[in-house]
Amino acid sequence: MSLDGTYDPGNIFARILRGEMPSVRVFEDDHVLAFMDVFPQARGHTLVIPKHSTARNFLEETPENIGPLMEGVQRVAKAVRAALNPDGIVITQFNGSPAGQTVYHLHVHIIPRWEGVALGRHGEGMADVEELKGLAAQISAKIA
Ligand code: 5GP
Repeated sequence: MSLDGTYDPGNIFARILRGEMPSVRVFEDDHVLAFMDVFPQARGHTLVIPKHSTARNFLEETPENIGPLMEGVQRVAKAVRAALNPDGIVITQFNGSPAGQTVYHLHVHIIPRWEGVALGRHGEGMADVEELKGLAAQISAKIA
């Protein structure tokens, strides 16, 4: 899907938001939901999505939603750092399939990185749910 298109309310993240599909949740406030990526590129790979949004990508989001979304991203990224002590953190976001986007509800990736540990492939290799729950609990405990 290119940058043009229509928001599909049946997309997987919309279904997670409505509680129709399971997810390992990390943090939630009035504006954002953070949950573990089920095909993580690194240990602790977390996604942050706006809750009240029909933006498929960053370009479509309202200015009013961008601020609270990025505040949520920073808050969760700080908790990821405090919980997992990575050497670096990638914060990234893809717009349109040529850019790597596969799910069309706006989302931001928080990917911890450690020296000498290669980045996993995007969207491949399903994580163990119990392990994700453990990581989510660690991160959640550090939300300030
Ligand atoms: P995108 O490629 O659109 O930037 O990122 C979508 C992300 O969602 C990928 O990293 C992929 O691993 C993740 N993902 C896809 N389906 C699911 C799912 O059902 N649950 C969770 N938690 N993550 C998913």
